[in-house]
Amino acid sequence: MYKKRTIIISNRLPVRIERKDGKLNIIPSEGGLATGLGSIYKEDGNIWIGWPGFVPKNDKEKVQVIEQLKPLNLVPVFLTEEELEGYYEGFSNEVLWPIFHYHPSYAVYEPSYWEMYEKVNQKFADIFAEQNINDADEIWIHDYQLMLLPKLIRALNYRLSIGYFQHIPFPPDELFRSIPWRDELLKGLLGADLIAFHTYNDTQHFLNACTHILGIPIQNNCLRSGGRSVYVEVFPMGIDFEKFNNLSKSPEIKKRAKEIRTFYNNRKFILSIDRLDYSKGILERLRAFECFLKTYPEVRNEVVLYMLVVPSRDSVPKYKQLHDEINRMVGQINAVYGNNEWTPISYFYNSYDVKELSALYVAADICLVTSLRDGMNLVCKEFIASKEDQNGVLILSEMAGASKELIGPLLINPNSIEEICECLKKAIHMSPAEQRKRLDDSLEIVKKFNIRHWVRIFFKRLREIKSIQQREH
Ligand code: UDP
Repeated sequence: MYKKRTIIISNRLPVRIERKDGKLNIIPSEGGLATGLGSIYKEDGNIWIGWPGFVPKNDKEKVQVIEQLKPLNLVPVFLTEEELEGYYEGFSNEVLWPIFHYHPSYAVYEPSYWEMYEKVNQKFADIFAEQNINDADEIWIHDYQLMLLPKLIRALNYRLSIGYFQHIPFPPDELFRSIPWRDELLKGLLGADLIAFHTYNDTQHFLNACTHILGIPIQNNCLRSGGRSVYVEVFPMGIDFEKFNNLSKSPEIKKRAKEIRTFYNNRKFILSIDRLDYSKGILERLRAFECFLKTYPEVRNEVVLYMLVVPSRDSVPKYKQLHDEINRMVGQINAVYGNNEWTPISYFYNSYDVKELSALYVAADICLVTSLRDGMNLVCKEFIASKEDQNGVLILSEMAGASKELIGPLLINPNSIEEICECLKKAIHMSPAEQRKRLDDSLEIVKKFNIRHWVRIFFKRLREIKSIQQREH
């Protein structure tokens, strides 16, 4: 009997190839998705298709990478510099990213970006077509870089079970409508059987877009497309709970957390961690922290904001501008409020490994998330998972998907500087008992709905949908 295969497809593979001393090395990713899907794609016969984060110099290097990745069940899609520029940096990051994060004025509707996006999605479909696919196989496509792929794969085989998950928000239909290629994008996704998002609002926005833009009637969370029922559902993504929870309890991390606290003279330690991105509300956070120091002089000398910003896309002008503005504001706040013994903001533009992140989560009194828009925000879940043995307060933007799922955080509107400022005050003075109660409420959710659970229930639902569709025929 045929053993059905599972094929994962995403823009990036869960590894990247690095050229060092003339050799090509495989560097595994530590990300949650790679962990969650690890047990799936490593199984015999299953594969993961994606870009290996590397542009080969010649065909010999290409063959070498293919051969090196084969035993790991990984299939590379090679992209040229020109393709990466148009499809990834262009259409994905300068059209879809700003629109999907409610920043329409940042979108650049460049037709050549769209052409490249179509071309690269087709390239993924061509590599997929080489994989000896069978009717019974299950396909899981990830994220906004590959919105056309469900339809392209459906055209190759009508019977396949295809799931799509979008890791970023889906905007209200009137915003989505601004994209000149909106019809093609929606039709691309409708090639899937199950289209999933982090939150209920995202699903509603997508369903509204299908009705208002394509004129497709919807019934609850289901619509008909190409003679099939397509289901649009909510699957809030979890984290690798065990990893962060175990690390936070290890003597090595506890020791490092203590060192960090000692270094900062045991002052109240406010932590923020995010990629450099305008969706993260970094400037709003700095303004709120400044307001906090100004409004409550008694907290000066007593608190420190430890801000880790991970470098990202800083060759793009909008990101460079943001980077410059962060530098300016941090410098100004430190100059105005700091003194010989105390620097209010410790700012790092860097990337840390998971152990250092874990020590920061353990050390922190407050984790401050001020995203203006965020699909989920995994940082806040990692903070919660690290707080079984110690107290802390999560201040969470209500614009982050996680705010719809977690019970316990102090919620803020990131556009209200005053509200963030008041919340900081409340967090600093929160009793240990209240901190514990709020953390435990969130911990229960983060523990139960972890990344493995998320993968399990997604596939379970995909199979249920397949059998519903078979009964319909
Ligand atoms: N992260 C990391 N190294 C760092 C800082 C962050 O690996 O120096 C990880 C962090 O642990 C988290 C992810 O980056 O898993 C950020 O995910 P999130 O959903 O918060 O934001 P995104 O960057 O995906 O928008």
